Amino acid sequence: MAKDKILFYRNPQFSRCPSCKSIGTLHRSRSRNMFEQIVRKTSFIKVYRCKECGWRGFRSTLIFTKKSIRTLLIYILLMGITAYLAQYVILHYVMK
Ligand SMILES: [Zn+2]
Repeated sequence: MAKDKILFYRNPQFSRCPSCKSIGTLHRSRSRNMFEQIVRKTSFIKVYRCKECGWRGFRSTLIFTKKSIRTLLIYILLMGITAYLAQYVILHYVMK
């Protein structure tokens, strides 16, 4: 379970263009304004441009997998059970 990758790095340059559906036509685009610069610097979302059809927009370079979401939920559940057990032990054995 610990070996499961929660996040996968993906390079949008090798993914499909959302507009014309051609592969390998996306290129990193320069930020045109402050908003795009802030988004680019503070997140894993980058501005891309398709050289085939001229589409321009944000693409994420990180993706969550279905398996990783399940792994995350198991971790949260385990953490909840651990917290509950710790509280139970403290209330019944330590506080007496
Ligand atoms: Zn395109």
